[in-house]
Amino acid sequence: MGGGLETEVQFVKGVGPRLAKLYTKLGVVTVDDLLFHLPRKYQDRRNIPPIAKARPGEVVTVRGRLRRVEARPISGGRVILKAIIEDESGAINLTWFNQPWVRKQLEESSGDIIAYGLVKAGTHLDEIAAPEWESVEDEDGIDGFARIVPLYPLTEGLPQKLARRAAQAAVDSFINLVEEPLPKSLLESQKLKGVQWCLRQIHNPENEEARIQARRRLVFEEFLYLQLELALRRSETQQELGIAFPVDALIAGEDPAPPAPAKADRKVEAAENLFNLLNEEKRKGEPLWEQIDRMLPFALTGAQRRVIGEVFEDMRLPHPMNRLVQGDVGAGKTAVAACCMLAAVRSGYQAALMAPTEILAEQHAKGLRRLLEPLGIQVDLLVGKLNSRERKHTYQNVRDGSCQIAVGTHALIQDGVEFKNLGFVVVDEQHRFGVLQRKALRDKGLGNPDVLVMTATPIPRTLTMTLYGDLDLSVIDELPPGRKPIKTHFKRRADRGPVYENVRALLDQGRQAYVVCPMVSESEKMMAQAAEELYAELSNGSFSDKRVGLLHGQMKPVEKDAVMDAFRKHELDVLVATTVIEVGVDVPNASVMIIEDANRFGLSQLHQLRGRVGRGEHQSYCVLVADVKTDDAIARMDVMVATTDGFKIAEEDLNLRGPGNLAGTEQHGQMDFKVADLIQDSKLLEVARQCAMRIIEENPRLVGEEWYKVRENLSKRRSDVALVTVS
Ligand code: ADP
Ligand code: MG
Repeated sequence: MGGGLETEVQFVKGVGPRLAKLYTKLGVVTVDDLLFHLPRKYQDRRNIPPIAKARPGEVVTVRGRLRRVEARPISGGRVILKAIIEDESGAINLTWFNQPWVRKQLEESSGDIIAYGLVKAGTHLDEIAAPEWESVEDEDGIDGFARIVPLYPLTEGLPQKLARRAAQAAVDSFINLVEEPLPKSLLESQKLKGVQWCLRQIHNPENEEARIQARRRLVFEEFLYLQLELALRRSETQQELGIAFPVDALIAGEDPAPPAPAKADRKVEAAENLFNLLNEEKRKGEPLWEQIDRMLPFALTGAQRRVIGEVFEDMRLPHPMNRLVQGDVGAGKTAVAACCMLAAVRSGYQAALMAPTEILAEQHAKGLRRLLEPLGIQVDLLVGKLNSRERKHTYQNVRDGSCQIAVGTHALIQDGVEFKNLGFVVVDEQHRFGVLQRKALRDKGLGNPDVLVMTATPIPRTLTMTLYGDLDLSVIDELPPGRKPIKTHFKRRADRGPVYENVRALLDQGRQAYVVCPMVSESEKMMAQAAEELYAELSNGSFSDKRVGLLHGQMKPVEKDAVMDAFRKHELDVLVATTVIEVGVDVPNASVMIIEDANRFGLSQLHQLRGRVGRGEHQSYCVLVADVKTDDAIARMDVMVATTDGFKIAEEDLNLRGPGNLAGTEQHGQMDFKVADLIQDSKLLEVARQCAMRIIEENPRLVGEEWYKVRENLSKRRSDVALVTVS
């Protein structure tokens, strides 16, 4: 057969125009596509038990002679087809619902019938409903049964048997045209088999070990491209010129020279240096760490200190920093950000902090003012709700540099905002900002500001490496001292009475409580209504003699502020709220949280909510109220009871729900792997990452003939990614 890998599938032996059309639906157009249309599962038919040994509840392969086929009409003109197959040991029923054509296929088959599926108990015989099946016509070839058989993703009208033959025909006629994209040295060092061998084995495995080896290589290759791309992106930014902050001078207590003007005149610079030298005496200032100690009302934890050190290390380099700081709820990320921004400001630059919501931006502005204003640093808030006079004023401050730290939402990256000399950017992202917004803010800076991304939601390491692999990672893995771990309980709705009684006892001791209302719907309006109902129930019932407040997303900002303020000042005992309290709220005296219908929330979200308590000196409690029935749902509640470690919870969330459902990750195209499975293959991802980093370190531009194919595949990937971003 002539033609290359770009040959249309219809020309593959046994395919033809009709099947080719069906293949289009699966995204398979060329021979190349067909070769990489890989089996999703396999049937291991090397051991087929006697039919009598197949037990209800087991997934088995059975083989037998066809004894009888009968079609029974049921209501609505539909048909149930039953076929009995038997061997020496016994017989079993195969059933098909509304697929009358199967009868003809069964009756025309000359050999034994082989079928695969879940056995269910039946009245006379056990049965397998809608089995994968085929007739055995040839004991050894591709249709032979005593082997590991691939099962391909199908589409209506494309039977498994034909898919298998098409794949095999493609392998037989075209496999020799598939070029090895990976360098030989890499295959050897990673103990990977060649691509042709792997494709052969993945489509028609000799044995289980060969299948595993073949898959390993394909997964590795898929991960490698992703990781190479991220490593390239990283090394590109590392080669860009950025700001070298005079951190050493600041730490030594010297007052560093002001940042050079954009077009530095060498003579002026030299004169200034001389001037500075002459004024050595005047340049003595307070050492940076002493300023930090003076600024913070507490001692930094070891982890905070280490992370700040890592950031300072990046800041002093003349390349733009791109660092992700991961820390569990309450780990003290804001303090870390404040210290880094202080260093930037003391270097003569402006800093900006971007938060995902107005509430959070305001909270940050308030907190930062408390810390930084005593040091004479001006913090301005820039959010959408400012009136035009306020906005103008803030724009002016940002432009002339009197605003040294700007805190805001998306409003920070609006067109009218011009910074005098933005040098340091913090993005508090909670997954809500994409790469593009990070870039928009960075572009507001003079010559590549340093960027620090903070994320409160712990992401499993595997996902961090795929989503943020272009960033360096710092983890605040220690909570401030004296925090008592929150005690979490899981209760049925029938036990609500005693639960609320216990909460009353805590209120009597002077504590405060949150009650989170059930997640009834995505709609803010419905949520508000649910919150109002719960508020009415509690303020007339369990808490009729307590001061109860209400907080939901449909309230006006001033109303929300008033309620939050009252709760903070302990003018309220109980706050009934929707998930609006998920982020940022910090009331140390609140020591108990009840989450109604907790099963309706994701684990990471429950973790965020629970993080609102346990912020003070008191023992804190979280009660998850849920009437759950499935094992899965119970397992999820048990995870919450068992651990307060956000990383563990995120891992469990990933295991239980899969990567597509993890908060905020839906739109990330990088998650679509052809062969790889992020959970199952996480070890290999790590290996591929290390490998990619080594490769790019040694050969940052992938020069050389042996990398030609890899370069080509990478640029293909990049244009795919670009297309996804635009559409
Ligand atoms: P995060 O943003 O990581 O959730 P925050 O920065 O809001 O955490 O800090 C949570 C609480 O802990 C705040 O009240 C903060 O003042 C306090 N805190 C932060 N760091 C320390 C520390 N080293 N020692 C004591 N309290 C701290
Ligand atoms: Mg925070």
